[in-house]
Amino acid sequence: LRRRIVRAEKMEVVGHLAASISHEVRNPLTVSRGFMQLLLQSERMNYKDKQYIQIAIEEIDRAEAIITDYLTFAKPAPEHVEKLNVKTEIERVIDILRPLANMNSIEIQTSLVPFAVKGERQKFQQCLLNVMKNAIEAMPNGGTLRINVSIDKDYVLIHISDTGVGMTKEQIERLGEPYFTTKGTKGTGLGMMVVYRIVETMKGDLFIHSEVGEGTDVYMYFPSYYKTDVEKFSRKNEKAIPI
Ligand code: ADP
Ligand code: MG
Repeated sequence: LRRRIVRAEKMEVVGHLAASISHEVRNPLTVSRGFMQLLLQSERMNYKDKQYIQIAIEEIDRAEAIITDYLTFAKPAPEHVEKLNVKTEIERVIDILRPLANMNSIEIQTSLVPFAVKGERQKFQQCLLNVMKNAIEAMPNGGTLRINVSIDKDYVLIHISDTGVGMTKEQIERLGEPYFTTKGTKGTGLGMMVVYRIVETMKGDLFIHSEVGEGTDVYMYFPSYYKTDVEKFSRKNEKAIPI
């Protein structure tokens, strides 16, 4: 038993370490990238040198993307399971993503209800961020990101849809497989793996519907924290959501 406790303590340390990595490593990465960008503009660099620097910049961007998919909200303090207001958490993530959405001419439409679920805040936010970021990245020429909250049976349903490039059956099947990405060096193929893992720890479920050239619907179900939410809302909203 003692050994198990020690192991749990070690895992805790690893968790905290990961959290400080996102804080402490991002800055030096940004600074290094800045200097390399300067070098690229230097007249003393020949074509070959510039190619090497370009590769170094791409690798830094890759490291930054991996940190984003894992540790955007990580803080050095330990996390605990608590009651989360889905409306508040979704709004927080939208705030973070708004500049990216604006850059891609994406309109964000929401219909949010303050239902409660149980989970660790940072993980829940990370999960929402990864799904919404994918939706935005699927619409490089603009479109609509829609986020809807409702109740379906005993679950709070978060429905995130985009009018983007969509996915083939094969792509949907590979979703969540580590390193599966269609975004070349810009992708990590880790975002959805993290999403599936978090949904699972929260005892939730996730369904995807997608049509190539039409867009994608992601349905995320989380057990409702309050039975009263379920009862109040179910009466008004008998029809099930088609998947
Ligand atoms: P990444 O975003 O780094 O590529 P993810 O695990 O987040 O990794 O996503 C894996 C792949 O799933 C993406 O590269 C993309 O092909 C596909 N995908 C995920 N979400 C969407 C979406 N909303 N629309 C279209 N394709 C998507
Ligand atoms: Mg992603």
